Amino acid sequence: MPDNSGSLNVAIVGGGIVGLIMAAGLQRRNINVTIYEQARAFRELGTGIAFNPAAQGCLEMIDPGLTVALQKGGAVGLSAFNDEEMNDCLRWIDGYNQRQPDDPDYQKFYLKTDAGYRGIQGIRRDHLLEQLTKLFPEEALKFKKRLVSIEDNDHDDQVILTFDDGTTATADAVIGCDGIKSKTRELIVGPGSIAGTPTYTHVNSYPTVIAMDKAVSILGETKAKAFHNHLGPNANLLHYPVANGTMCNVTVFIRNPDEWPEDKPTSLMGHKADILDHYKNWNPVVCKLIDALPDQLPTWAVFDLWEYPIPYYNKGRVCVAGDAAHASSPHHGAGAGMGIEDALCLATLLSEVGLTLRQGQASKFNALATAFKAYDASRRPRSQWLVNSSRRICDLHQQEEWGDATKWIKAETTLEEIRDRTDRIWNFDYRGMVQDAVADYVRSIRQ
Ligand code: FAD
Repeated sequence: MPDNSGSLNVAIVGGGIVGLIMAAGLQRRNINVTIYEQARAFRELGTGIAFNPAAQGCLEMIDPGLTVALQKGGAVGLSAFNDEEMNDCLRWIDGYNQRQPDDPDYQKFYLKTDAGYRGIQGIRRDHLLEQLTKLFPEEALKFKKRLVSIEDNDHDDQVILTFDDGTTATADAVIGCDGIKSKTRELIVGPGSIAGTPTYTHVNSYPTVIAMDKAVSILGETKAKAFHNHLGPNANLLHYPVANGTMCNVTVFIRNPDEWPEDKPTSLMGHKADILDHYKNWNPVVCKLIDALPDQLPTWAVFDLWEYPIPYYNKGRVCVAGDAAHASSPHHGAGAGMGIEDALCLATLLSEVGLTLRQGQASKFNALATAFKAYDASRRPRSQWLVNSSRRICDLHQQEEWGDATKWIKAETTLEEIRDRTDRIWNFDYRGMVQDAVADYVRSIRQ
């Protein structure tokens, strides 16, 4: 008997930021959703994450409750506490040594991009997660469920997920939001495929937060309370306000020419001393800021899918989204934003699947597989471009030329490129994306 109820049960593997936002979007569209997370509880650090205008627009369309969650979690515009401007602007400045003889703290201004009023908002990751988890009933969240395999037969039986504790679950479809080391991705591309192998970007990041008062005492009010990215050879450092402006999120990036040992964790605790050594010849203001960081701070070796992108994000009734599909280095600050765009696309398409089923236009298997194909066609080019572009941005930030006075002008001439690339991310026509993806889906279903 064909199921004309239009009801759908979707399993989401991974309860990170993208998994939870995806789940909110499905729940909002009356799709039953269960999140399977390998950890004992949801975890995120107390460091910052920022959402660009496109990501914020998508959040509102996914579920207006997400916009509220941002506000409740203490999200602030990246320039909200800077009295000199209403809009959120990102600023790139010299972090190294273009000093004026009479002012050793002088930092040359390079570039500003304007995201509009509240265009970019920063929030502490743990505060965001706390708000997101409140959106779901307890029974929708399953912890200590590490996915090991998925069985998706080419007919209308349910998809079977198997976890490492030996238990199984069933669903009509599976969305893998299981991050850069995604098991779902591995199952989509097949065992032994090099596609989807993460590689080291040769950059380490050190994210942390300090009290805003401390940041102000070092950087001055104007600089501390608005996003600034300090550039120099082989490293850069950025900061912006979070937690209703009471804290300053600081992220230090350092290039590392060495390989990352295979057996070494990619996320560990590092030492301020390691950073100080790299930055010892930088502008005194930057050195003072680094001095103010905690002695121990998280260190993330940055990996991405730049070298081995995957050829498709879907197989049958299984697909991947967020970092599982397109893990990027963080130099555009848009990796999660890209996952949020994925979530809007998928939530809308799955809502259309419900309609297709109620109208008896296709089998559940066909409708879901067709929707995931439309998702892949819509999302893969843009999100894989981000992975490329982010590598390029890092090269521009960390040019060797910043360390050679005869090359400063040359280095500066490259920065306009950042404006163009940023524009492509921020001014994305996400409504157009949704319309095109749905049109593609409907056309395919009717064929
Ligand atoms: P993850 O956060 O990795 O979540 C994956 C989840 O899946 C985890 O909870 C994990 O435990 C679970 N999981 C994994 N395997 C399994 C399994 N087999 N079974 C069950 N569960 C599993 N992006 C922005 O948009 N703005 C920013 O300002 C920004 N800043 C950044 C700064 C830094 C320093 C870095 C490194 C990244 C930054 N990003 C930013 C990128 C952003 O952090 C990521 O894109 C985002 O967190 C990815 O979320 P996700 O949910 O896809 O994956």
